[in-house]
Amino acid sequence: MSKELSCVICRQGKLAPGMATVMVAARETVVVVKQVPADICDTCGEYYLSQEMAEQIDDIVDAAAARGAEVEIIRYAA
Ligand SMILES: [Zn+2]
Repeated sequence: MSKELSCVICRQGKLAPGMATVMVAARETVVVVKQVPADICDTCGEYYLSQEMAEQIDDIVDAAAARGAEVEIIRYAA
């Protein structure tokens, strides 16, 4: 894996560590997770989650859906 990551969306930006707000819709549930550590494009703002982080987001969304929440806004605590 190259350390020089570039954005696959705009193909110009460089990725740098930062915080993203991730919104996921699953069936009847919409979950917004704030302050998620991610690599963020300095040009278009697209964010890239690590595999581990994506799995944690999945778990958060599953838990919210299981509670029957329609909208949940969660602050991710690293
Ligand atoms: Zn970009």
